[in-house]
Amino acid sequence: MADPIGLSVKLPFGSPEEFLQKYGVNLTRGGIYLRAKSLKAPGTKIVLDLRLSNGDRLLHAQAEVAWVTGASGTGVTGMGIKFLQPDEASQRFLDSVAATLPHAKSDEPPLPANVGPAEKNPAAVAPVVPASQVEKPLPSQEKGRVVVQSAAPTIAAPAFEAPTEPPKRDGPIIGIDLGTTNSCAAFVKGGKPQVLKSREGYHTVPSILALNARGKLVVGHPAKGQLLTNPRLTVYGAKRLVGRAFESPVVQEIKDRFAYEICPGPEGDAAVRLGDRVYTLQQISALILREVRELAQLQLATPVSRAVITVPAYYNDNQRQAVREAGRLAGLHVERIVNEPTAAALAFGYGRKLSKRILIYDLGGGTFDASVLELNDTIYEVVSTGGDTFLGGLDFDNAIVAYLFEQFTAKTGLKFQGDRVAMQRVLDAAERAKCALSERTEARVHVPFLTMVDGKPLDLDVTLTRTALYDLTRELVARTIKVCGEVLAARNLKASDIDEVILVGGQSRFPLVHEQIEAFFGKKPAHNVHPDEAVALGAALLANSLSNADGIVLIDVLPMTIGVGLPGGRFKPVIPRNTTLPTKRSHVHHTTRDDQPELELTVFQGEGNGALDNEYLGTVKLTGLPKGPKGSVHVELSFEVTSECLLNLTAREETTGREVKVTLTTKDTPATVRQKLGDAAAAPGAPPAPASTKVSAAKLAPVPGPAAAAPPAEAKPKKGFLGWLKGLFGG
Ligand code: AMP
Repeated sequence: MADPIGLSVKLPFGSPEEFLQKYGVNLTRGGIYLRAKSLKAPGTKIVLDLRLSNGDRLLHAQAEVAWVTGASGTGVTGMGIKFLQPDEASQRFLDSVAATLPHAKSDEPPLPANVGPAEKNPAAVAPVVPASQVEKPLPSQEKGRVVVQSAAPTIAAPAFEAPTEPPKRDGPIIGIDLGTTNSCAAFVKGGKPQVLKSREGYHTVPSILALNARGKLVVGHPAKGQLLTNPRLTVYGAKRLVGRAFESPVVQEIKDRFAYEICPGPEGDAAVRLGDRVYTLQQISALILREVRELAQLQLATPVSRAVITVPAYYNDNQRQAVREAGRLAGLHVERIVNEPTAAALAFGYGRKLSKRILIYDLGGGTFDASVLELNDTIYEVVSTGGDTFLGGLDFDNAIVAYLFEQFTAKTGLKFQGDRVAMQRVLDAAERAKCALSERTEARVHVPFLTMVDGKPLDLDVTLTRTALYDLTRELVARTIKVCGEVLAARNLKASDIDEVILVGGQSRFPLVHEQIEAFFGKKPAHNVHPDEAVALGAALLANSLSNADGIVLIDVLPMTIGVGLPGGRFKPVIPRNTTLPTKRSHVHHTTRDDQPELELTVFQGEGNGALDNEYLGTVKLTGLPKGPKGSVHVELSFEVTSECLLNLTAREETTGREVKVTLTTKDTPATVRQKLGDAAAAPGAPPAPASTKVSAAKLAPVPGPAAAAPPAEAKPKKGFLGWLKGLFGG
């Protein structure tokens, strides 16, 4: 048998993480794909030596050419090289890659997209020459012959195809929990709600969209598989961005923490650039909803064009509107937008004729909220709500990561200095250990080949006990209990006034949550609601009740105050937070100049004293005002919020009754709004105006219940290391 050929490749990457991030798609546990100008015949034995740009060895293995591409003249010339015997360090590296990258579990070398078919018996390839007769390619010599290619610079992305017709309003209505991390759909069959399975058989679909190397948009599990290898083209956490202006403080604060590119969309909203195209967040959410819709159609074996979609209780009007639009773009008529805690309450109480006061404790991946509801047979009334939009499972993971790095430093004397991919691997391991510790009392956190020191790989290997995890996260759980206390206090309720505590959200499985809840409420949480599925099941029940008119009544409250900006940047509340819906309030404005032809008002939602401390909903323009001396024209602007939290604006000029045209735009940026508020001193004013014009139904976020302590308004993202992590991945 011929001696193996030495193939030594110097990679253009400085660290294993960079290699994985940029080249990981071409690597599996079983092999690697390398582009090469001169090919070796399949079956050729190779001693493969991959080195980083600084000369450190990354992988050393006895290997064999399994197949080649491009030998027959079409496609890219390259070789699929199968590892036969990696050395010990390389094997550990490959095992860790397989544990982190879903595609890398294969024992065969991967065949990348667009390189052509794998050829096992190519007609023309270089003859096999024994290594002893060939000069071994040195890194420098090999340069130019073996080409290690990073992800394609710009992939042509497909255009988003919007439906040409409005969705039909017939057929089944499904319930959809459009989550930050995962989405879940459910449908009521034979009176029982059931969750619809993903194509892969899971009960949830990752809320992730990716542009793959073939220029195709993929959603769910296949997209999640790309998160680590090509984070630049993988969109996650869209729920945090949808319905927000690009210039909004929250987007500006968090945009650099996402690996994908967030840019301004056509309407000034935050949008995402994938390849050569920009997608709005509505389109991204629509693609996730479309996947959910398709799997529903597959399972129900009938077209599906109607849905009830859940949103967080604290979503403002813009965000709710955006979700409705996403539904439309997905070919779904959104029959109802419903708050997540209300849906969870339905899942708990439906058909049980309960008369109880319950608290929904929802601790998910990135957010926490607590809502008190009163259930009276078919009436579900939110009485108080509150939460922390920057407290969730990710904070628990971050606490573990900080601890792991402490241990790493204590053991090695080194400070961890890895990049995004290394950090993601540690986070993954921390999260796995956290979930395991909900069942067990001890878990090993092992991240092989975490970093290279003096050419040697270093592992992270720490055993975490449940007791240690309790100590690390006690304060986080205590914060959730504090919010529960505040939500109760807002309605003068005591913990003992709550009949049942319902746990929702994956992180609520953590035993310390159960313990602290039991200590605070004096009772164990209810066990008959599935934390991951309750929201979708509740949405399905509501969907079913819409078809059957079975009398379910949901009473929500406005989650955040709505008001207008005043000259000097002050905020004048018009409808206070926690007002029971539906509701209508009016606000009268006067002209401030003679013959003023129009009046402009900025509308905000939030609890801040300054207008710009709140979320900007849009600018209302009242035009066609009647002429008259300043102060003589009075326009009454009415804010009407429906039980579904739709905001309707109408304007009426009091003296003449003439029509005033009302338009609500959201194209202003904080800078232009600031300018307007500054100028506004000169503003109000103008001519007669009249009659009422209905403004397009901007929907206003209906949000649950009165009360609560921590304003549900979006808090400012946290700063510092943990804040960075959280912003990067969080909730
Ligand atoms: P959700 O947003 O509801 O899907 O919740 C996701 C969060 O729940 C993530 O932070 C998960 O790590 C966490 N989680 C899921 N299962 C468990 C578990 N068994 N124990 C602790 N946390 C969990």
